Amino acid sequence: MPLHIIEEANRCLQCRRPLCQKGCPVHTSIPEVIRLFKDHDLEDAGEILFENNPMSVICSIVCNHGSQCEGHCVQGRKGNPIHFSAIETYVSESYLGRDMHRIVESKAAPNGHAAAIIGSGPAGMVVAIKLALAGCEVTMFEQKPKIGGVLEYGIPEFRLPKTYVEKYRELLVALGVQMRTATTIGGALKIEDLLRDGYDAVFVGTGAWRARTLGIKGQARGNVFFGIDYLVNPDDCEIGRNVAVIGVGNVAMDVARTALRKGARHVTLFSNWGGVSATSEEVEFAELDGAQIEYGLSVIAVDDKGPIFKRSILGENGVFEGMSDETVHFDADTTIFCVSQVPKNKLVLTTKGLEPTDKGTLIVDENGMTTVPGVFAAGDVVTGPKTVVHAVAGAKLAAEGMLRYMGVAEAAATEA
Ligand SMILES: Cc1cc2nc3c(=O)[nH]c(=O)nc-3n(C[C@H](O)[C@H](O)[C@H](O)COP(=O)(O)OP(=O)(O)OC[C@H]3O[C@@H](n4cnc5c(N)ncnc54)[C@H](O)[C@@H]3O)c2cc1C
Ligand code: SF4
Repeated sequence: MPLHIIEEANRCLQCRRPLCQKGCPVHTSIPEVIRLFKDHDLEDAGEILFENNPMSVICSIVCNHGSQCEGHCVQGRKGNPIHFSAIETYVSESYLGRDMHRIVESKAAPNGHAAAIIGSGPAGMVVAIKLALAGCEVTMFEQKPKIGGVLEYGIPEFRLPKTYVEKYRELLVALGVQMRTATTIGGALKIEDLLRDGYDAVFVGTGAWRARTLGIKGQARGNVFFGIDYLVNPDDCEIGRNVAVIGVGNVAMDVARTALRKGARHVTLFSNWGGVSATSEEVEFAELDGAQIEYGLSVIAVDDKGPIFKRSILGENGVFEGMSDETVHFDADTTIFCVSQVPKNKLVLTTKGLEPTDKGTLIVDENGMTTVPGVFAAGDVVTGPKTVVHAVAGAKLAAEGMLRYMGVAEAAATEA
């Protein structure tokens, strides 16, 4: 790998108006990082990446590079963009490992403010890191036994090794963040309890963990799972040999590839139109692993033999236009539904004044503050299911909003 990434760095044209940087949702300083990398200054390159995006190493692995940074690289016009993501992985992995002390040493003196973070996915971790570095006392509440959110309980190990989440846990401990795992806010403890107990600001980064249902007969049967629930612990789910996956997005591809690694012999994904919503890379990997995709079938029910479909009527470019009368019955031991997710409404139901949109996501203002003063939010709970780098972008904004709300940003500016 090192030889490959050095060659990649050498191909960078150091554009004055870098389109790759524009294509990255958090506008990573790509040419500058490549320049420092070529000068063997891994520490400064790592610092630039981490300060701009504390999830840099994760993003370098799971971002859709083809439509973001690398998809905008001018070298791509000749068919071979600079593979910056591989350089980013190398630099950020080194920074989080060898140079973690540098991050911890940059922590400001205690500022007397305390903040609570609900949810430990990428959004929660970014806010926790930013606030801890600014000198706040930070407590993170997570309902699952381990931290990491989708990074730990969604994206499979073969795409993102869990050792990366472990590195972040190590960093959070080193920064003094207290982690209360296996604690659901909106259960025994509510947001008002957090405000009562002296937290000056609260961050909600609870993601989108309620599977969207189709309201069809059979979804509550024992031979049915929802994709995001299945991925939490696939080893404990009996799925048999023949698996039908309803949906063709990235989550569906992860489910198919996981099922094939956990004993399924035949995995078929079903699209109700003529195409897929997953990235071409994810589809290619799923097919490489042995999954098959069937197009133009709309599920109408599930019985004890598997899903039942009506053949779709497709318009130009495979667009879904309706269902025909033709019924198709597919034999499957298990049917797994992957047709998107929405946020759970536990916090909305238990917090006075916390307003959701009609899609169930939280309403926030330009500072990332919800309709409850002092309560901020970002990530999938605000945007609906998106990506890690988009969760980072929202979390950075919310962290700045929280610091301003607590008066920390102003205090730091006055001292400077
Ligand atoms: C299977 C799958 C694969 C994906 N693959 C990719 C990919 O390849 N690339 C990419 O960029 N994005 C991917 N995504 C999307 C990406 O992971 C999410 O956009 C991102 O994780 C959102 O971060 P978050 O912090 O908002 O939420 P999450 O990661 O969902 O974290 C929310 C956390 O809050 C906790 N929580 C929820 N409610 C409570 C409560 N009441 N009290 C305490 N804790 C609570 C949850 O347990 C969870 O740990 C994928 C998503 C899924 C589901
Ligand atoms: S954060 Fe994602 S999009 Fe941005 S440079 Fe890194 S890999 Fe590319």
